[in-house]
Amino acid sequence: MGIVATDVRKNFGDFVALDGVDLNVPSGRLTALLGPSGGGKSTLLRIIAGLEYPDSGTVLIDDHDATWAPPQKRSVGFVFQHYAAFKHLSVFRNVAFGLEIRRRPKAEIRSRVMELLELVHLEQFADRLPSQLSGGQRQRMALARALAVQPQVLLLDEPFGALDTQVRKELRDWLRRLHDEVHVTTVFVTHDQEEALEVSDELVVINHGRIEQVGTPTELYDNPANDFVMRFIGPVT
Ligand code: ADP
Ligand code: MG
Repeated sequence: MGIVATDVRKNFGDFVALDGVDLNVPSGRLTALLGPSGGGKSTLLRIIAGLEYPDSGTVLIDDHDATWAPPQKRSVGFVFQHYAAFKHLSVFRNVAFGLEIRRRPKAEIRSRVMELLELVHLEQFADRLPSQLSGGQRQRMALARALAVQPQVLLLDEPFGALDTQVRKELRDWLRRLHDEVHVTTVFVTHDQEEALEVSDELVVINHGRIEQVGTPTELYDNPANDFVMRFIGPVT
Protein backbone atom coordinates (compact mmCIF):
# COMPACT_ATOMS: atom_id res chain seq x y z
CA MET A 1 0.00 0.00 0.00
CA GLY A 2 1.01 3.62 -0.34
CA ILE A 3 3.46 4.62 -3.05
CA VAL A 4 6.20 2.31 -4.29
CA ALA A 5 8.43 3.68 -7.03
CA THR A 6 11.15 1.33 -8.21
CA ASP A 7 14.27 2.16 -10.22
CA VAL A 8 12.70 5.20 -11.84
CA ARG A 9 14.83 6.74 -14.57
CA LYS A 10 14.21 9.89 -16.54
CA ASN A 11 16.41 11.73 -19.00
CA PHE A 12 15.78 15.04 -20.68
CA GLY A 13 17.96 14.72 -23.78
CA ASP A 14 21.41 13.90 -22.43
CA PHE A 15 20.58 15.20 -18.99
CA VAL A 16 19.90 12.55 -16.36
CA ALA A 17 17.13 13.95 -14.14
CA LEU A 18 16.34 10.71 -12.27
CA ASP A 19 19.06 8.10 -12.07
CA GLY A 20 17.33 5.00 -10.73
CA VAL A 21 15.20 6.25 -7.87
CA ASP A 22 13.45 4.02 -5.35
CA LEU A 23 10.78 5.64 -3.20
CA ASN A 24 8.57 3.89 -0.69
CA VAL A 25 5.89 5.89 1.09
CA PRO A 26 3.78 3.60 3.27
CA SER A 27 0.06 4.19 3.36
CA GLY A 28 -0.88 7.20 5.52
CA ARG A 29 2.63 8.54 5.93
CA LEU A 30 3.76 12.11 5.34
CA THR A 31 7.13 11.93 3.61
CA ALA A 32 9.19 14.97 2.71
CA LEU A 33 11.19 14.80 -0.49
CA LEU A 34 14.03 17.17 0.27
CA GLY A 35 16.85 18.32 -1.93
CA PRO A 36 18.51 21.23 -3.66
CA SER A 37 17.11 22.92 -6.73
CA GLY A 38 17.54 20.77 -9.84
CA GLY A 39 17.83 17.58 -7.78
CA GLY A 40 14.88 15.90 -9.48
CA LYS A 41 12.14 16.44 -6.88
CA SER A 42 9.50 17.86 -9.19
CA THR A 43 10.28 15.33 -11.89
CA LEU A 44 9.73 12.45 -9.47
CA LEU A 45 6.51 14.02 -8.17
CA ARG A 46 5.22 14.57 -11.70
CA ILE A 47 5.93 10.93 -12.53
CA ILE A 48 3.99 9.80 -9.44
CA ALA A 49 1.18 12.12 -10.54
CA GLY A 50 1.14 10.87 -14.12
CA LEU A 51 2.01 14.31 -15.50
CA GLU A 52 5.21 12.82 -16.85
CA TYR A 53 6.24 9.24 -17.66
CA PRO A 54 9.51 7.57 -16.73
CA ASP A 55 11.96 6.17 -19.28
CA SER A 56 12.02 3.04 -17.16
CA GLY A 57 10.97 1.86 -13.73
CA THR A 58 7.58 1.41 -12.13
CA VAL A 59 5.19 3.32 -9.91
CA LEU A 60 2.68 1.46 -7.76
CA ILE A 61 -0.10 3.36 -5.99
CA ASP A 62 -1.90 1.26 -3.39
CA ASP A 63 -0.64 -1.91 -5.05
CA HIS A 64 -1.84 -0.96 -8.54
CA ASP A 65 0.68 -0.42 -11.31
CA ALA A 66 0.10 3.24 -12.18
CA THR A 67 3.30 3.73 -14.20
CA TRP A 68 1.47 4.40 -17.47
CA ALA A 69 -1.88 5.57 -16.13
CA PRO A 70 -2.99 9.12 -16.98
CA PRO A 71 -3.43 11.50 -14.02
CA GLN A 72 -7.22 11.23 -13.95
CA LYS A 73 -6.93 7.46 -13.52
CA ARG A 74 -4.81 7.89 -10.41
CA SER A 75 -6.37 8.91 -7.15
CA VAL A 76 -4.07 11.87 -6.61
CA GLY A 77 -4.55 15.38 -5.22
CA PHE A 78 -2.01 18.14 -5.93
CA VAL A 79 -0.95 21.39 -4.42
CA PHE A 80 1.61 23.49 -6.26
CA GLN A 81 3.50 26.61 -5.30
CA HIS A 82 1.43 28.80 -7.55
CA TYR A 83 -2.08 27.95 -6.66
CA ALA A 84 -4.22 27.25 -9.71
CA ALA A 85 -7.61 28.49 -8.57
CA PHE A 86 -10.53 29.27 -10.82
CA LYS A 87 -10.56 33.03 -10.43
CA HIS A 88 -14.22 33.53 -11.31
CA LEU A 89 -15.47 30.76 -8.98
CA SER A 90 -16.15 31.17 -5.28
CA VAL A 91 -13.97 29.47 -2.69
CA PHE A 92 -16.79 26.97 -2.18
CA ARG A 93 -16.98 26.10 -5.88
CA ASN A 94 -13.22 25.88 -6.20
CA VAL A 95 -13.17 23.24 -3.48
CA ALA A 96 -16.29 21.58 -4.91
CA PHE A 97 -14.92 21.41 -8.44
CA GLY A 98 -13.55 17.86 -8.40
CA LEU A 99 -16.79 16.59 -6.88
CA GLU A 100 -18.94 18.49 -9.37
CA ILE A 101 -17.16 17.04 -12.39
CA ARG A 102 -17.68 13.61 -10.86
CA ARG A 103 -21.40 14.43 -10.66
CA ARG A 104 -21.71 13.73 -6.98
CA PRO A 105 -25.07 14.51 -5.37
CA LYS A 106 -25.47 18.18 -4.40
CA ALA A 107 -26.11 17.44 -0.71
CA GLU A 108 -22.97 15.32 -0.50
CA ILE A 109 -20.92 18.05 -2.19
CA ARG A 110 -22.25 20.69 0.19
CA SER A 111 -21.48 18.72 3.35
CA ARG A 112 -18.08 17.53 2.15
CA VAL A 113 -16.95 21.00 1.06
CA MET A 114 -18.17 22.70 4.23
CA GLU A 115 -16.45 20.06 6.35
CA LEU A 116 -13.17 20.72 4.53
CA LEU A 117 -13.55 24.49 4.71
CA GLU A 118 -14.08 24.15 8.44
CA LEU A 119 -10.94 22.03 8.73
CA VAL A 120 -8.90 24.83 7.15
CA HIS A 121 -10.92 27.56 8.90
CA LEU A 122 -12.25 29.09 5.71
CA GLU A 123 -15.94 28.39 6.23
CA GLN A 124 -16.71 32.10 6.59
CA PHE A 125 -15.01 32.75 3.22
CA ALA A 126 -17.01 30.19 1.24
CA ASP A 127 -18.69 32.83 -0.93
CA ARG A 128 -15.63 34.94 -1.60
CA LEU A 129 -13.46 34.86 -4.67
CA PRO A 130 -9.89 33.51 -4.39
CA SER A 131 -8.59 37.02 -5.11
CA GLN A 132 -10.17 38.16 -1.83
CA LEU A 133 -8.06 35.71 0.18
CA SER A 134 -4.52 36.17 1.47
CA GLY A 135 -1.74 34.00 0.05
CA GLY A 136 -1.85 31.68 3.05
CA GLN A 137 -5.63 31.38 2.90
CA ARG A 138 -5.41 30.52 -0.78
CA GLN A 139 -3.01 27.68 -0.10
CA ARG A 140 -5.36 26.43 2.63
CA MET A 141 -8.10 26.50 0.00
CA ALA A 142 -5.80 24.57 -2.34
CA LEU A 143 -5.27 21.95 0.39
CA ALA A 144 -9.02 21.62 0.90
CA ARG A 145 -9.54 21.35 -2.84
CA ALA A 146 -6.91 18.66 -3.24
CA LEU A 147 -8.50 16.62 -0.45
CA ALA A 148 -12.11 17.06 -1.62
CA VAL A 149 -12.17 13.96 -3.80
CA GLN A 150 -10.57 11.87 -1.03
CA PRO A 151 -7.47 10.98 -3.02
CA GLN A 152 -5.34 7.99 -2.09
CA VAL A 153 -2.30 10.18 -2.47
CA LEU A 154 -1.62 13.88 -1.82
CA LEU A 155 1.32 15.46 -3.64
CA LEU A 156 2.64 18.90 -2.72
CA ASP A 157 5.38 20.61 -4.71
CA GLU A 158 6.93 23.47 -2.71
CA PRO A 159 3.40 24.49 -1.80
CA PHE A 160 4.36 27.27 0.60
CA GLY A 161 7.44 28.47 -1.26
CA ALA A 162 6.03 31.80 -2.38
CA LEU A 163 4.85 32.87 1.08
CA ASP A 164 6.62 34.73 3.85
CA THR A 165 8.20 32.95 6.80
CA GLN A 166 5.43 33.41 9.33
CA VAL A 167 2.70 32.22 6.96
CA ARG A 168 4.85 29.26 5.90
CA LYS A 169 5.13 28.22 9.54
CA GLU A 170 1.37 28.44 10.00
CA LEU A 171 0.75 26.42 6.87
CA ARG A 172 3.12 23.71 8.03
CA ASP A 173 0.98 23.34 11.12
CA TRP A 174 -2.16 23.28 8.96
CA LEU A 175 -0.74 20.55 6.78
CA ARG A 176 0.31 18.55 9.82
CA ARG A 177 -3.16 18.89 11.40
CA LEU A 178 -4.96 18.05 8.17
CA HIS A 179 -2.77 15.04 7.69
CA ASP A 180 -3.42 13.83 11.21
CA GLU A 181 -7.13 14.22 10.46
CA VAL A 182 -7.30 12.41 7.11
CA HIS A 183 -4.14 10.23 7.12
CA VAL A 184 -3.68 10.46 3.39
CA THR A 185 -0.40 9.14 1.95
CA THR A 186 1.50 12.38 1.29
CA VAL A 187 4.67 13.43 -0.49
CA PHE A 188 5.75 16.95 0.39
CA VAL A 189 8.47 18.41 -1.84
CA THR A 190 10.68 21.15 -0.46
CA HIS A 191 14.23 22.45 -0.69
CA ASP A 192 13.91 23.89 2.83
CA GLN A 193 15.49 21.53 5.36
CA GLU A 194 13.81 23.14 8.36
CA GLU A 195 10.39 22.84 6.77
CA ALA A 196 11.04 19.20 5.89
CA LEU A 197 12.29 18.34 9.37
CA GLU A 198 9.29 19.92 11.02
CA VAL A 199 6.49 18.70 8.82
CA SER A 200 7.31 15.12 7.97
CA ASP A 201 7.35 11.64 9.49
CA GLU A 202 10.20 10.65 7.22
CA LEU A 203 12.62 12.41 4.91
CA VAL A 204 13.93 11.32 1.57
CA VAL A 205 16.96 13.32 0.50
CA ILE A 206 17.48 13.54 -3.25
CA ASN A 207 20.32 15.13 -5.18
CA HIS A 208 21.38 14.81 -8.84
CA GLY A 209 18.49 12.41 -9.42
CA ARG A 210 19.63 9.97 -6.75
CA ILE A 211 18.33 9.22 -3.30
CA GLU A 212 21.09 10.08 -0.83
CA GLN A 213 19.34 8.93 2.34
CA VAL A 214 15.97 7.98 3.79
CA GLY A 215 15.14 8.29 7.47
CA THR A 216 13.34 10.08 10.25
CA PRO A 217 14.46 13.63 10.96
CA THR A 218 16.41 12.39 13.99
CA GLU A 219 18.10 9.57 12.06
CA LEU A 220 19.26 11.92 9.33
CA TYR A 221 20.36 14.56 11.75
CA ASP A 222 22.25 12.16 14.04
CA ASN A 223 23.55 9.80 11.37
CA PRO A 224 23.91 11.48 8.00
CA ALA A 225 24.84 8.88 5.36
CA ASN A 226 27.42 11.08 3.67
CA ASP A 227 28.92 14.56 3.48
CA PHE A 228 26.21 15.83 1.21
CA VAL A 229 23.44 14.92 3.67
CA MET A 230 25.44 16.29 6.57
CA ARG A 231 25.95 19.63 4.86
CA PHE A 232 22.41 19.78 3.57
CA ILE A 233 20.55 18.81 6.75
CA GLY A 234 22.50 20.59 9.41
CA PRO A 235 22.95 22.83 11.19
CA VAL A 236 19.28 23.48 11.77
CA THR A 237 18.67 27.11 12.61
P1 ADP B 1 13.80 20.10 -8.55
O1 ADP B 1 12.31 20.08 -8.49
O2 ADP B 1 14.45 19.24 -7.53
O3 ADP B 1 14.34 21.50 -8.50
P2 ADP B 1 13.42 19.14 -11.24
O4 ADP B 1 12.88 17.77 -11.13
O5 ADP B 1 12.47 20.22 -11.59
O6 ADP B 1 14.26 19.50 -9.94
O7 ADP B 1 14.52 19.18 -12.36
C1 ADP B 1 15.65 18.36 -12.36
C2 ADP B 1 16.47 18.75 -13.57
O8 ADP B 1 15.80 18.33 -14.74
C3 ADP B 1 16.68 20.25 -13.67
O9 ADP B 1 18.04 20.47 -13.94
C4 ADP B 1 15.81 20.67 -14.82
O10 ADP B 1 16.41 21.70 -15.55
C5 ADP B 1 15.67 19.41 -15.65
N1 ADP B 1 14.36 19.34 -16.27
C6 ADP B 1 13.18 19.20 -15.61
N2 ADP B 1 12.15 19.14 -16.45
C7 ADP B 1 12.68 19.28 -17.70
C8 ADP B 1 12.13 19.31 -19.03
N3 ADP B 1 10.82 19.19 -19.24
N4 ADP B 1 12.99 19.44 -20.05
C9 ADP B 1 14.32 19.55 -19.84
N5 ADP B 1 14.89 19.53 -18.63
C10 ADP B 1 14.10 19.40 -17.57
MG1 MG C 1 10.92 21.58 -8.28
